[in-house]
Amino acid sequence: MGDRPLRFAVIGNPIAHSRSPDIHARFAEQTGIALVYERRLSPLDGFDASIDAFFAEGGQGLNVTVPFKELAWERAREHLTPRAREAGAVNTLWPRDGALIGCNTDGVGLLRDLQRLGVMLAGAHVLVVGAGGAARGAVATLREAGCASLHVANRTASRAHALVADLGQRGTPLTASDLAGAARPGGWTVVINATASGLQDTAPDLPEGIYAPGAWAYDMVYGSRPTPFMQAAQAAGAATADGLGMLVEQAAESFFLWHGVRPDTAPVIAHLRAQLAAGG
Ligand code: NAP
Repeated sequence: MGDRPLRFAVIGNPIAHSRSPDIHARFAEQTGIALVYERRLSPLDGFDASIDAFFAEGGQGLNVTVPFKELAWERAREHLTPRAREAGAVNTLWPRDGALIGCNTDGVGLLRDLQRLGVMLAGAHVLVVGAGGAARGAVATLREAGCASLHVANRTASRAHALVADLGQRGTPLTASDLAGAARPGGWTVVINATASGLQDTAPDLPEGIYAPGAWAYDMVYGSRPTPFMQAAQAAGAATADGLGMLVEQAAESFFLWHGVRPDTAPVIAHLRAQLAAGG
């Protein structure tokens, strides 16, 4: 390897918007690890060839983003970490002994961000909205966090039921419904929006009265201003947060898997928040 910097990348389509290179560069600076971290655009029908090329060029680790997380799971299916196996999606790949190992750090990223914010999960009644890869990773992690109940509600109810059936009953009891079925007497103490609604500048069509007094509402989408989901939650009296912290925390977990060093996320979250506020 000599003095050549280690090579990492994030792969997706589109990819130009990704903040991962900036995040990993800041972690590298903090920890004194020499690395190069780039964006790689993969053709939609050329994911396998793109990752083969990256690792053949000496790449040490790859983050995978939309729309390839399920394909990355397939690619690493013989060498998945338990987190990745449950999540059904892979966002972190690295080579070992001629094989590709696949992990999913999104769920841990969410958990760490909730802890950072002081959201109490032990004994909480938690509603996860959405049933895609992000929701799956979140539920797989949250059910080990001591919540009293965990409900998955999705626009397409069959996907919520499939998610719960796939994960099975272990840890916190899991239930599922469509969005209208997300009502709970007394409300939920934590509501997590794991849908892409914020990217369309809309909110999921949830029933009235879903927030318990003192509830938290967390949107995985982030931006320079509160998402429509956060705005509705604020109007209902809930405390809110967006997914910028989760983005940085999931990157920190990938960094830890690759380098064995845990970076300090707080200054990186603050930096990205300032960048977003400045329109960057
Ligand atoms: P995905 O697999 O494509 O799933 C999308 C989900 O959003 C589905 O449940 C879909 O419902 C739902 N949905 C989309 N538009 C909706 C709308 N207008 N109203 C209600 N539901 C809607 O995507 P994913 O990978 O799970 O990601 C979900 C979101 O999380 C994305 O926006 C992504 O950017 C974000 N995310 C953030 C982080 C982070 O670090 N902050 C990490 C991972 C993901 P149907 O099943 O009915 O179509």
